[in-house]
Amino acid sequence: MVEILEKNKCTGCTACMNICPKGAIEMVEDNEGFKYPLINQDKCIDCGLCKRTCPILNTKRNESINKCYVGYNNDSNERLNASSGSVFSLVANYVLDNNGIVIGAAFDDNNHLKHVAVEKKEDLDPLRKSKYLQSDLDHIFTYIKEQIKSRKVLFIGTPCQVAGIKSFIKKSDNLITIDLFCYGVPSPKLFEKYIKELEEKNNDKLVNYDFRDKSTGWKKHSNRAKFENKEIVISRYKNKYMKLFLSDIALRKSCYNCNFKLGNKYSDITLGDFWCVKKHYPEMYNKEGVSAIIINTDEGKVIFDNIKNYMTYKTCNIKETISGNQSLIKSATLPQKRELFFKELETTNINALEKKYRKKHLIVRKIKSKLKMFF
Ligand SMILES: Cc1cc2nc3c(=O)[nH]c(=O)nc-3n(C[C@H](O)[C@H](O)[C@H](O)COP(=O)(O)OP(=O)(O)OC[C@H]3O[C@@H](n4cnc5c(N)ncnc54)[C@H](O)[C@@H]3O)c2cc1C
Ligand code: SF4
Ligand code: SF4
Ligand code: SF4
Repeated sequence: MVEILEKNKCTGCTACMNICPKGAIEMVEDNEGFKYPLINQDKCIDCGLCKRTCPILNTKRNESINKCYVGYNNDSNERLNASSGSVFSLVANYVLDNNGIVIGAAFDDNNHLKHVAVEKKEDLDPLRKSKYLQSDLDHIFTYIKEQIKSRKVLFIGTPCQVAGIKSFIKKSDNLITIDLFCYGVPSPKLFEKYIKELEEKNNDKLVNYDFRDKSTGWKKHSNRAKFENKEIVISRYKNKYMKLFLSDIALRKSCYNCNFKLGNKYSDITLGDFWCVKKHYPEMYNKEGVSAIIINTDEGKVIFDNIKNYMTYKTCNIKETISGNQSLIKSATLPQKRELFFKELETTNINALEKKYRKKHLIVRKIKSKLKMFF
């Protein structure tokens, strides 16, 4: 019997499902709301391809250029409509201008987050901005394999998703990849529950959820829920979902021992927030957002050279980036009560879960991060 990988290591990247020549692998949701590969033994011919493709079983240390920049898109409207300094939009525009396509994470009409393809600039909006839950890749890797035969494809996702597509495709001059600094991904089941309770409380249907609303600024960003009949802004300090996310209680098991931190990058470019910009480069600060940009490959360098005329940027030291962003090098800590949390997720409301499982020192963190905004 083929067993691909222990559950606590599997990132759900779907490379094994997409490579299987017999269609014997299906991604199945577990009780926590995360998807894992399930093999249909009747279809499996024991060829071993799934194991040979899994990026965790075949981890290689990737040599990276690791050139680092602090910078932002010069278009302030695009910055407002992005999580950080809107560098993703610049790369996406470059790829679309060259007849390529862009694959990223967007909510569908049922607030289900999945990776989708975009062919035109006017359709890029749903892709922009970070969504703090795991995105469903479904069969997008197989679609990408078809597309790169004839055109450039930009894939953006978490580092483990990029490792997955790179393991599946192996090599192609047409595949461009961006990964994100990654704190970890919370369970889609938790988000679903949060949305359901939010809809009940507001007696309205949610049409869009924005984790990075910048009407209160980049550093002080809020969450914005758009319903059919109204919009509400939720402070991220009061948001129960965000508190549970940052308490590390609801992350995918693989996030507690992540294989794809700095030093093992599969992407051409890595993007994140340059939170410490005021300390290291005060002249680069702006209220719509500043990015940290790490170039990992020669292809990444070519892309950066093609977008840099639309940016304000400076070379920076990687240590300065890490100092404000430990998630680049460190995994989240596994809370002892994680199993218990997921057992109660089905039956307990978000308010009660937040009270019981929120990290008590988050209030201290809030004060600290507020202070950081001024120094
Ligand atoms: C789950 C998660 C955790 C993160 N953790 C950190 C962190 O700890 N520190 C930090 O500095 N930055 C983190 N980031 C990255 C940061 O929030 C921005 O996404 C990044 O700086 C790019 O910003 P931008 O302005 O260039 O692009 P934007 O215009 O904001 O575009 C963001 C891109 O990310 C993709 N994306 C959004 N949500 C997901 C998702 N759930 N899964 C896969 N792809 C997605 C979108 O398709 C879009 O292309 C995280 C992002 C995510 C999604
Ligand atoms: S061993 Fe081969 S046939 Fe069986 S699940 Fe893996 S890839 Fe599919
Ligand atoms: S290829 Fe990806 S989804 Fe499949 S077992 Fe490995 S990590 Fe999990
Ligand atoms: S922390 Fe690591 S395992 Fe978790 S989503 Fe991010 S890249 Fe994947």
